[in-house]
Amino acid sequence: MIDYHMHTPLCHHALGEPAEYLAEACRQGLLEIGFADHYPLGLLGIEPKNKVSMDPEELPGYISEIRALGEGQNRVRVKLGAEVDYLPEKEKALARLLDGAPFDFVIGSVHFIGDWDFTHPRHAEKYESADLPQIYRRYFELIWQACSSGLFDIIGHIDVIKKFGHRLPDREMEPFWKETARVLKKNDICFELNTAGRAAPAGEFYPGRPLLELCREEGVPVTLGSDAHAPEQVGRYFDEARALLREVGYRELAVFTKRRRSSIPL
Ligand code: ZN
Ligand code: FE
Ligand code: FE
Ligand code: ZN
Repeated sequence: MIDYHMHTPLCHHALGEPAEYLAEACRQGLLEIGFADHYPLGLLGIEPKNKVSMDPEELPGYISEIRALGEGQNRVRVKLGAEVDYLPEKEKALARLLDGAPFDFVIGSVHFIGDWDFTHPRHAEKYESADLPQIYRRYFELIWQACSSGLFDIIGHIDVIKKFGHRLPDREMEPFWKETARVLKKNDICFELNTAGRAAPAGEFYPGRPLLELCREEGVPVTLGSDAHAPEQVGRYFDEARALLREVGYRELAVFTKRRRSSIPL
């Protein structure tokens, strides 16, 4: 198995050193891991009230630390990735920043609707006063734009808008699910089964089963990540995730080297 979504303390909301994440992956016998810490929002000219990413000047240190870890004698292969915020008005700036960057893979995630960091527990109360169908529409429009931006290899936690348990009925979700699977396929982009949602109020993986099934039908490649923000979260719920992936028909997971996709058996 692989874990392609792990953080480091540089993002100000994760615990443990990268070497401890690696040690946990070794203990579990994972084949490959990918660090995907939050890419510096400062490089995009954004300074949210709560720091959720490394500082721009920390990026070179992050890169060299993960690389050094990968060059050590490990049983687990270590890949260098980043989780990058998709901000529609920053597409050009981001394209320049990522051009020639040394990452094996780049996860594109939507955490912001306007300046609302809706995945942050401290800002979750805003859901209560929000127009939920409108918020969902805006969220998925951003996901579709992220898919067609050509900036990313993987779309992160693709329905994380449900994180705090604010849900629309399935019949209202269906058009969002269908369009999402279609846009992923059209842009030949991979998504992750992100297991962190199981521990959030949402209580299930990102994405949930209906969208996962549609992606499988479309033949969209999938990868797997725990979104670990602490070493003990590495590989969390992976038995369940693997069973679910196989149940819906997946037999491979996508892996990346210098932003080229290949696959390994599931
Ligand atoms: Zn995070
Ligand atoms: Fe994220
Ligand atoms: Fe993450
Ligand atoms: Zn994440």
